[in-house]
Amino acid sequence: MSRLDLAQVAVMGNELALAWSDGAESYLGFEALRKACPCAACQGEPDVTGMVVVPSVNHTEKSFHLLSHTRMGGYALQLTWADGHRTGLYSYEYLRSLGESHG
Ligand SMILES: [Zn+2]
Repeated sequence: MSRLDLAQVAVMGNELALAWSDGAESYLGFEALRKACPCAACQGEPDVTGMVVVPSVNHTEKSFHLLSHTRMGGYALQLTWADGHRTGLYSYEYLRSLGESHG
């Protein structure tokens, strides 16, 4: 099984368009992408008992405006948002699963 790779990344309107090495394409809306931000500040971290408490995140209009995307080490995409948030590293596998979850 070959490793999933990202062939192309492009911003189209308010969506991120991803072309995968296997020929598939994903279109991810900015709002859904930001809400799915995998960083600890957005999704929470397990405490000592393994319970994950999801922090309450205050999103503004700027939170859903994507400023830039940067490839990280050939396995993930770092997204920088207009409100300054940029700690989310979206692995290719994660992006792919997000694209598939809504058709
Ligand atoms: Zn985040």
